[in-house]
Formats: sequence, C-alpha cells, structure tokens
Amino acid sequence: MTVVVAVDGPAGSGKSSVSKAAARMLGYAYLDTGAAYRALAWHVLEVGVDTLDPGDIVDELDRFEYSIGTDPDNYFVRVGADVITHDIREPRVTAIVSSVARVPEVRQYMVELFRSIIRASDKAGIIVEGRDITTVVAPDAPVRILLTASEEARMGRRSAELAGIDASVTAKALTDRDAQDSRVVDFMNAADGVTTIDSTDLDFDQTVEAVVSLVTSVVE
Ligand code: C5P
Repeated sequence: MTVVVAVDGPAGSGKSSVSKAAARMLGYAYLDTGAAYRALAWHVLEVGVDTLDPGDIVDELDRFEYSIGTDPDNYFVRVGADVITHDIREPRVTAIVSSVARVPEVRQYMVELFRSIIRASDKAGIIVEGRDITTVVAPDAPVRILLTASEEARMGRRSAELAGIDASVTAKALTDRDAQDSRVVDFMNAADGVTTIDSTDLDFDQTVEAVVSLVTSVVE
C-alpha cells in the first residue's frame, strides 16, 4: 500500500520544492497537482479558447492529453507531444490559472486524475501537494499537512524565484491569486486532523526535515 502524504498551502509557501525534496529523502514519489491546472491553462491559451468561458474550457478537457513525472529526480509536464515543464510557470499562465481552476467540472476531472495517478504509483509512498489535497483529493491520507508561512516570507521567496520581475508586481499577483483561489477551496486554515507546519522562521532544510520527521513518526 502506497503511503499518501497530503500537503496543502498557499502560493509561495514553498510546498513544491519542500515536497519534492522530502519525497527524494523518503524514496517516495511526488505529485505536483498545481501543474495540471497550469497545464490546462496553458492548453486553453494555446488553442485560443475564451479563458473566461467555463463551457469552452470544459469542452477542452476531452482534448487535454496530460502527463506528469512523479519521480522527484525526473520531473516533467507534458501536454500531447509538448514538454511544457517551464512554460507553465510563465506569468501569462499564472494570470489565468485561477479562473480555469474554479470551474467545478475542471476540479472534478482533476480530482479523478490525481487519484488515478496516486493509485498507479509503485513507490512506498507519494507526496501530493496542492490546495485541496488534505480535504478533497486524499482526506483519508495518513499524513496531512498544511504548509504555511507569513505573507511577507512568501512574497520574499516568490520574488527571489522570479528574479528580474518587479517585486511589487510579484507580490500583487500572489495575493490576488490567493484571494481568488481561497474563494474556491480553503487552504489557509487546517482542517481537522491536519498538522500545520509554519515555515516563516525555518530555512528550506529545516522545513524539509519537519515534513520528513512527521512522515516517519506516523509511518514507522
Ligand atoms: O501550486 P501552484 O501555484 O502551481 O497552483 C497553480 C494554481 O492551480 C493555483 O493558483 C490554483 O488556482 C490551482 N490549484 C488548485 N488546486 C490544487 C492545486 C492548484 O485549484 N490542488
């Protein structure tokens, strides 16, 4: 049985890089769920459908041929024949991803997709990170974590990642996206049974260590 570790948190909480590093240390698989919403946003931009029309977005789900690498050492994101691992991080994709992710049929489709990827995993465990993993995708996971950090810390980390882009622009984009996303799912408050790890005063290695020791304390 694959151990599922569910990790939720806001943008810039470091959940992707922390989850990936923790998966590597534990010998687990790693699933970045935000990548699927981003890939669908990339796809609708590419085909030119109206990104504000939920019906048009839902129609594209039939043509959305998605695949993602779950080996933390071989991470890739592909739609059809296009490898779009880096393209999905472009600001034009980030700007519209929330409006794609709030469509109920899209969320239903994604939840099923994530569950089938989890079922197909052949490693001892899988760390699944996103916004609704602890509550919707894997509410029965033996380890459920909310990774938070103060708004200031999150903004600092995100602007360090996006060097060259004005920090105030990055900060505004991040708070706007969190505000839009939290209308759809609550990832700012830990649900019952979810452990909060606040990384505001932790460095990267300490945060990874906090996740790994929580997992080993539950699993061993
Ligand atoms: O985690 P990341 O910032 O890459 O996620 C991109 C977007 O995907 C989020 O802003 C949110 O709109 C959506 N998302 C979601 N549910 C998840 C993961 C991501 O709605 N489980």
